[in-house]
Amino acid sequence: MQVDYIIVGLGLAGIAFAEELKKHNKTFVVFEDNSQNSSLVAGGMYNPVVLKRFTPVWNAKEQLDVALPFYKDLEKKFDKKYNYKVDIHRIFKSIEEQNNWFVACDKILLQDYMIPEIIKNKNKYIFAPFDSGKLIHTGRIDVNKLSIDYRQCLKTNKNLKEEKFDYNKIEFEQNFINYNGLKSDKIVFCEGYGLKANPFFNQLPMREAKGELITIYAPDLKVDYLIKSAIFILPLGNDLYKVGATFNWTDKTKTPTTAGKDELDFKLSTVINCNYTIVDHTAGIRPTIKDRRPLVGVHREKKHLAILNGLGTRGVMIAPLMAKKLFQHIENNTPLEKEISIDRFYD
Ligand SMILES: Cc1cc2nc3c(=O)[nH]c(=O)nc-3n(C[C@H](O)[C@H](O)[C@H](O)COP(=O)(O)OP(=O)(O)OC[C@H]3O[C@@H](n4cnc5c(N)ncnc54)[C@H](O)[C@@H]3O)c2cc1C
Repeated sequence: MQVDYIIVGLGLAGIAFAEELKKHNKTFVVFEDNSQNSSLVAGGMYNPVVLKRFTPVWNAKEQLDVALPFYKDLEKKFDKKYNYKVDIHRIFKSIEEQNNWFVACDKILLQDYMIPEIIKNKNKYIFAPFDSGKLIHTGRIDVNKLSIDYRQCLKTNKNLKEEKFDYNKIEFEQNFINYNGLKSDKIVFCEGYGLKANPFFNQLPMREAKGELITIYAPDLKVDYLIKSAIFILPLGNDLYKVGATFNWTDKTKTPTTAGKDELDFKLSTVINCNYTIVDHTAGIRPTIKDRRPLVGVHREKKHLAILNGLGTRGVMIAPLMAKKLFQHIENNTPLEKEISIDRFYD
C-alpha cells in the first residue's frame, strides 16, 4: 500500500492536518492508539481575549478567521452541530479590575468582543460582589463529539489504523518511507504529549501541563453563559456544566485524581452556592511549550518527517491555521514564521 502521508495521532492537530490533506486530494493513513486524550476532554472554548489580563490572545484574529469556517465545514460534512456560541462573564475581583476592563474595551483588537459595561449580577447562586464584564462572539467546540465522528469517518473509509505507531519500524528509503510495508512520502507527527516518546522530535522543549475537569449537575444554577473566575463554569445544556481546569506540572498521567477533584470542588464553592452533584471527572495533558507557541516544521535531516504539536491551552483556535501553514510549507516550501517554526530551537 502506498499513500502520500502518514499522520500519527488523531487529536485536534491530526484532524486539522487530515482535513488539509483531503482538501488537496492527498492520500493518507492515520495511526491512533488512544494513549493521549487532551482533545477528548478539552473544554473546547475559543476566546480571543486573555481573561487574566484583558489582553489579546497571540494572533487570535488570523486563527479565528481560519478556525470558524473549518468547524462550520465539518458541521456540514457530518450534518452535526459542534460550534455552540457561548458568551463569557468574567467575574471581577476588585474595582481596579473593573477599571482595567474599560481600558481594554477601547483597544482595537478587543472592541468586537468586550462589552464596555459592568454586568450586574442577578443570580443569587453566583458570588460576584464586584459584578462582571461580558465577552461576546466566543464559543465552545464540542471536540469530543467531533473527534468521535471524525474517527468513525476515517474508519469507514479505511484511513485509520487503531494501533500504536512504532518509531523503530520506520525505514528510510531514497524517496519515501517504508513503515511495515506501508509506503509513504511523508509522516506528520501529531502526538500531543506523546511527542515525548518520539526519538526524532523529543528534544523539543515541551512543558506539558496536566489538567482535570469535572462535570456537575446543578439544576438551580440556570446559566447559559460561561462564568470565569478562579475556575470556569461552562454550560453544556440540561443543567450540566463543565468545571475546570487544574494545572499540574509534575503529574504526567492522564488519570483523574482525588486532589484534582477536591481542588475544583473547593474553587467551585467560592463561586457558586447552590447544590450540585459531580457526574463526571476527566483529565488530560495539554501539549504546552515553554514559549507558548506551537511546534511546526520539518525535521532538519530527515526531510520526510514533520511535526504539528504544541497547541497548548488553545488547540481549538490554533490547530486549523497551523495545519494550513505546515501543509504549505511541506508542499510549496512556503516559509514558516520563526515564532511557530521548530527551527527557533535549533538556531
Ligand atoms: C483539561 C483541559 C482543558 C482544555 N480546555 C481547552 C479549551 O477550552 N479550549 C482549547 O482550545 N483547548 C483546550 N485544551 C487544550 C487542547 O485540548 C489541546 O490544545 C489540543 O487538544 C491538543 O491537540 P493535539 O492533537 O495536539 O493532542 P492530543 O489531543 O493529545 O492528540 C494526540 C493524539 O495522538 C495519539 N498518539 C500519541 N502517540 C501515538 C503513537 N505513538 N501512535 C498512535 N497514536 C499516538 C494520542 O492517542 C492522541 O489521540 C484543554 C486541555 C485540557 C487537558
